[in-house]
Amino acid sequence: MLTLERLTVPKEGHRIEVKDGRLVVPDDPIIPFIEGDGTGPDIWRATRRILDAAVQAAYGGKRRIVWFEVYAGEKANHEFGEWLPADTLRAFEHFYVGIKGPLTTPVGGGFRSLNVALRQLLDLYACIRPVRWFEGVPSPVRHPEKVDMVVFRENTEDIYKGIEWPAGSPEARRVIEWLRSEFGVELRPDSGIGIKPMSEFCTKRLVRKAIRYALDRKRRNITLVHKGNIMKYTEGAFREWGYQVAQEEFGDVTVTWDEVQTKHGGQVPPGKLLVQDFIADITFQHVLTRPQDIDVIATGNLNGDYLSDALAAQVGGIGMAPGANVGDFHAVFEATHGTAPKYANLDKVNPSSLTLSGVMMLEYLGWEEAAQRVIRGMEACFREKIVTYDLARLMDGAREVRTSEFATAVIDRMG
Ligand code: NAP
Repeated sequence: MLTLERLTVPKEGHRIEVKDGRLVVPDDPIIPFIEGDGTGPDIWRATRRILDAAVQAAYGGKRRIVWFEVYAGEKANHEFGEWLPADTLRAFEHFYVGIKGPLTTPVGGGFRSLNVALRQLLDLYACIRPVRWFEGVPSPVRHPEKVDMVVFRENTEDIYKGIEWPAGSPEARRVIEWLRSEFGVELRPDSGIGIKPMSEFCTKRLVRKAIRYALDRKRRNITLVHKGNIMKYTEGAFREWGYQVAQEEFGDVTVTWDEVQTKHGGQVPPGKLLVQDFIADITFQHVLTRPQDIDVIATGNLNGDYLSDALAAQVGGIGMAPGANVGDFHAVFEATHGTAPKYANLDKVNPSSLTLSGVMMLEYLGWEEAAQRVIRGMEACFREKIVTYDLARLMDGAREVRTSEFATAVIDRMG
């Protein structure tokens, strides 16, 4: 039993556990949530209603989520005088699966980002961002229906490791001098220094997760996106290690692009997952010009950062993009946009990002039927042009609704 300093764990419900290397989900899992700052409470209220209704509709009371509120950000600071209480981290660690709204990052420091803290504590090494279009949602491209991709972005290394020193600092000067004396590398003395580590271990576990996901969901291909033509021993190694995982661990169910050409007459053998790779810059062209050829993407941190947002723009933008940070078993699902503070408490913004993150969470629990209900309800709303302001302003003939009204409309259309 988990004992926390200031919070009381719900008396009802059970903990999700890990047994024999598998997640074991009870019918009444306790799931910690952070509603978030700014518009967080609005989109959380809507999302929670939608998820609960979907679970009820799918399982008729046999299953339900026991929500457990934990705190971070402004609400935590207000209630407990701390931006990130230890209880919150312990709850996410103990219960394995959690969900969160957006949080304010106070300017001027003093608050370690919750995302970073959780990522490090729980080793959430994969940032997963599915990108699909819903019929009716305005898009800047002519064929958004061809976009259906899932980006797996490495979360723990690459330049996001944060190893950097400003120009002129003693550290930067020492590194510059060391490079000169040890390796004969000449850098301008006024250079800032950043270090980009990419390891075999972290690359392989990310690609392994992406391949497993692709196989489980019967996706057609996995694309390793890298900049290996320029950064050979980081980005280029990502490509090599990625292919190694595919061949050594999934050789019987995968086929590489080279093998398709040399052994299979240019056709992917039925039932095999195609493994291919693209250079990062050309990938941005491919996702626009032939999105139908790209399915699951595995990539490093910086490439994944750019690519996820560019893809989100193709299918309706920031209010629509869900995301999750996932480790071997731990997973935290979240809205990918910020707190949009100017709309706080106006019951106005689009809850879809958080709601679709909730759908990812239901899928992660193995509650596919409930996940499908939410998708069905949202699809119907968008088809009928029942949308929040952000989409309404881009559509002809839309019926603009509030956040809470959108939730009700989704629930009414779940079937
Ligand atoms: P933001 O909150 O994402 O908002 C930027 C703009 O995006 C909004 O003004 C709005 O555009 C649109 N938008 C965002 N969420 C929307 C939604 N649910 N529905 C419809 N439109 C939405 O970005 P920001 O203003 O740069 O950041 C505000 C705060 O959030 C900062 O403290 C930042 O640190 C934090 N933040 C947190 C996270 C996180 O917790 N994961 C992520 C990013 C930022 P219009 O004005 O055009 O309507």
